Amino acid sequence: GRTVHQIQSGQVIVDLCSVVKELVENSLDAGATSIEIRFKNNGLDSIEVQDNGSGIVSQNYETIALKHYTSKLSSYDDLSSLQTFGFRGEALSSLCALSNFHITTARADEAPKGTRLDFEVSGKLRSTQVVASQKGTTVAVENLFMGLPVRRRELEKNIKREYGKVLGILQAYACISTQARISVSNIMAKGKKSVVFATNSNQTTRENIANVFGAKALPALVAMNLSFELHPTKTQGPTSSPENKQVQVLGHVSRPIFGEGRQAPDRQMFFVNSRPCGLPQVAKIFNEVYKSYNFSQLPFIFANILLDTNAYDVNVSPDKRTILLHDQTTLLESIRGSLTALFENQDQ
Ligand code: ADP
Ligand code: MG
Repeated sequence: GRTVHQIQSGQVIVDLCSVVKELVENSLDAGATSIEIRFKNNGLDSIEVQDNGSGIVSQNYETIALKHYTSKLSSYDDLSSLQTFGFRGEALSSLCALSNFHITTARADEAPKGTRLDFEVSGKLRSTQVVASQKGTTVAVENLFMGLPVRRRELEKNIKREYGKVLGILQAYACISTQARISVSNIMAKGKKSVVFATNSNQTTRENIANVFGAKALPALVAMNLSFELHPTKTQGPTSSPENKQVQVLGHVSRPIFGEGRQAPDRQMFFVNSRPCGLPQVAKIFNEVYKSYNFSQLPFIFANILLDTNAYDVNVSPDKRTILLHDQTTLLESIRGSLTALFENQDQ
């Protein structure tokens, strides 16, 4: 019954944030150039994620929400050089157990006809129905944690804070996703719809930041393009490791000194090879360097660390947000050095 499935699916879907993160990543994995995230009542009533990606092939309808089903991993080797966000096949199966869940999907050759898929709590396909649909996939999650009274009550109690955290995550995806238009809206009980923010496709990260945080934020920011090598390449002859030690940190950061009382939003977002993640050690370095110029404000940080996929490990936590950097100390000190140089060279 539902209980068994609910207990078993505590792994990837732990809160509102994980729902949204998993669904948006599925849309990005499907090659979407437009993703709309629609909340009702801050997500308490429903969360809908609509994309214009590949859609789902009908042969996969039966398996899509079964535990550990994934269409993304073709061999064990793929795990080390992961190109897609998903690879565990747990999100959809968890959502079947934890909510009132359905999918509408259409491939390019099927639109404007599509198929609505409904599932049992086990993830087994219950029914299909032909409906009108544009190309792409819409996933609807209603009444998250229904049937789990304690977790549902927790969610209701903390919904303001949870929704705030969700917006923080969506800001990060919206700013980094230059290929996709990402829009977020919320309808409250009174029926008033508010567009929270919307980016466009084929924009720079700077334009995305203006869309998400307002164009007023831009003058307070300086473009960052730090570049260094992790180890000075030793001359070891032809046997030396071919591993690429070149590291780039691209993004935008608050100017250390900017106007009277004016400042950029104090949001801090970190990415490794464009994958949003929490990097507390890197954040600490940024904040320390910034503080030596400006004591009174926290900097805005949007930092995308580009480095060889062998230099870190994403497969360490179920949410894939924790990234293990293999050569952390060297990396941190290099960031400290080059960030200081960037600030030194600023015209204040
Ligand atoms: P994973 O992402 O780890 O493969 P999920 O449970 O998130 O596992 O999704 C299961 C499968 O459902 C995916 O492998 C993919 O084939 C399909 N899928 C999910 N969301 C979408 C989407 N938005 N567009 C196309 N296919 C999707
Ligand atoms: Mg997934």
